[in-house]
Amino acid sequence: MNYLPLSLNLADRDVLVVGAGEVALRKLKWLLKAKAAVRVIALDADPRVEALSLNLSLRAVALDDLSGAYLVVIATEDTALNKMLAEACSKQNILVNVVDQPAISTVIFPAIIERDEFTIALSSAGDAPVLTRYWRRKLDAYIPAELGKWGRFLGRQRDKVKMLLGSVDQRRSFWEDTIESELAELCYQGSDELQDRFDRNLEAYASDDGLKMGAVYLIGAGPGDPELLTFKAIRLLQRADVVLYDRLVDPRIVDMARRDAEFIYVGKRASNHTLSQDEINDLIYREATNGRIVARLKGGDPFIFGRGAEELELLVEQKIPFQVVPGITAASGCASYAGIPLTHRDHAQSVRFVTGHLKDGSPELDFSSLQDSRQTLVFYMGLLSLNAICQKLIGTGRNPQTPVALIERGTTENECVYTGTLETIHSLVSEHQVKAPTLIIVGDVVGLHQTLKWRGKSVNAKETL
Ligand code: SAH
Repeated sequence: MNYLPLSLNLADRDVLVVGAGEVALRKLKWLLKAKAAVRVIALDADPRVEALSLNLSLRAVALDDLSGAYLVVIATEDTALNKMLAEACSKQNILVNVVDQPAISTVIFPAIIERDEFTIALSSAGDAPVLTRYWRRKLDAYIPAELGKWGRFLGRQRDKVKMLLGSVDQRRSFWEDTIESELAELCYQGSDELQDRFDRNLEAYASDDGLKMGAVYLIGAGPGDPELLTFKAIRLLQRADVVLYDRLVDPRIVDMARRDAEFIYVGKRASNHTLSQDEINDLIYREATNGRIVARLKGGDPFIFGRGAEELELLVEQKIPFQVVPGITAASGCASYAGIPLTHRDHAQSVRFVTGHLKDGSPELDFSSLQDSRQTLVFYMGLLSLNAICQKLIGTGRNPQTPVALIERGTTENECVYTGTLETIHSLVSEHQVKAPTLIIVGDVVGLHQTLKWRGKSVNAKETL
């Protein structure tokens, strides 16, 4: 290792930057963030540098300018000048960075991930800046945006913890448990309960009760393709001690949880529930009261035809902390992957998500409210009632030629898009044995599928009739 990452306190230190172009600008932003007293000397300056509040002199740099500097950053295109200045700095033991020239620098700027006071520095000693930047982006996505706030909160608790917990071991194990706990999530959300819960945990620790707080994450897993998960969904899934999932959730998503988590299938098929909704609600509640972190993975979005609210009722009543993570709902996922915009300036000014679920053999819907030809209709759970839906839409006045798409297993590698009209679409279902999950889209926007489709298989009713 040729470069040891040290974190410099630059507040009010004299830092000289030579050059005021694009490259200098990038370094200046960090130097100003670190509250350095920055002087810039350059023959000319990028207007964005001129706009910064710092001491800028437009003239040639002289050796005398180095005196008093703690750090010098050189960002000019004049290689001979860069080298001469770097050597002079080294002789005077002034820290020097020549941008993109690690060989003549004594310090280099790492790639930085910043969450207030919490920072991570990555560096490849100047060998592969693109690789370093790539990893910075990857790591950046995994680090909660509010981590700095959590760090500050923990900092404020240190004296109290020291007072209540006598031994170093006890304190370390308390901090380790706390960092892993639900308290971090409360902090990210800005919850007013944070301090109170922290204090209760600390007291329980001091009196050796070892209280552990359970929590529930109701996570939208999207329509199929695992890449449609959100960062938050992955982060919370990886915190879970127990994962409850159902049939619509892709096994590759379930696999993203910790290896040592417990996995419980609570699968649902139409009218053949493995566990009843009440049993699922109870199970979630029991696990959380036992101090476990429960991830409840639901297909699509938990609050769209997902019975998400029912699973939360008991938790609200019993004051168990929970979070709801939105997911990409089948309508958005399937429509995007099928190249069917749900709204369009020329064809549809609104979109409606409707359940096609049957009650006593017919859809529970007021069809007269579905007549607007400039509104796209998206039916969830409508495959079994497709025929009835089309007949009712025609019967209450919608044009029989209105385009319809069935999207089977949308966003997965087995996706197939069937298109036809209100009159013709049903023939495809038996012919191709279309299976659930399938989404139905009705409206002129379906006509755009032929032009905008960009993946997957598609079958048109006209071609097969
Ligand atoms: N909460 C889910 C919907 C659950 S209802 C969401 O927001 O997407 C289940 C219905 O969603 C299925 O009957 C089907 O109509 C639709 N669906 C879910 N995933 C789908 C997929 N990958 N392809 C097509 N339809 C899907």
